[in-house]
Amino acid sequence: MIIDTHAHLSDEKFDIDRNVVMERAFNSGVKRIIEISCEPRYWDKALELSKQNNIFVAFGVHPNDVEKASDEDYEKLELLIQEKKCIAVGEIGLDYRYDFSSRNAELQKESFARQLDFSIKRDKPVIIHSRDANDDAVDFLKAYKSVPKGVIHCFSGTPRQAKEFIALGFLLGIDGPVTYKKSDDLKQTVLETDLSKLLVETDCPYLSPQKYRGQRNEPSYVVEILKEIAAIKNAPFDEAAKITTQNAAKLFNL
Ligand SMILES: [Zn+2]
Repeated sequence: MIIDTHAHLSDEKFDIDRNVVMERAFNSGVKRIIEISCEPRYWDKALELSKQNNIFVAFGVHPNDVEKASDEDYEKLELLIQEKKCIAVGEIGLDYRYDFSSRNAELQKESFARQLDFSIKRDKPVIIHSRDANDDAVDFLKAYKSVPKGVIHCFSGTPRQAKEFIALGFLLGIDGPVTYKKSDDLKQTVLETDLSKLLVETDCPYLSPQKYRGQRNEPSYVVEILKEIAAIKNAPFDEAAKITTQNAAKLFNL
């Protein structure tokens, strides 16, 4: 009874064995998968995929894609968000890793705001991507007219930043890096954060947990993340699974 709340199964890396990968997940205790479709070129493929049982979808324009997205893309996005199996807007947000020119940051914020408005208008939660931009993301959200409920996907900040996002009403998405030896800040954040504020997600095909590092990631590996969270919090695996699944079901209305 686990939900992988963040997968990119439409990625070409799954073209050869997508159905086998999904089968394997459903046979390993994963009961639902949320497909995140945040590049316009994948939207139709993800919509098709979401017609399968126990697959849900989120649509958005990723901050790394804002320069390519057109007005028509945003118009299409607003329609996609209203699809029955679409349970969130995302992943959207700020990413300063590759391009921190002020022009790009402005464009990212414009796109972020536009999609936050979709989320508010259509009453669907947001999945936020914030990389090397946590303080800016907190400031931006604090100043925003209204903040929808949602998750900070693949949280990668400090325990202080975690508390700020939680104070704004967000949950934290925990991914493979929590299993890496050098993730001190992340392990500390998990230790300090109540289980009721955590979600588990693979972000596959990226970010494989330590046990599979260097290989393609997939939804069945979400179990490794839960094992690590349970170990850090000194809680039984089943309790960590049950609570994080309840959190996901509640947030995404599953
Ligand atoms: Zn992702």
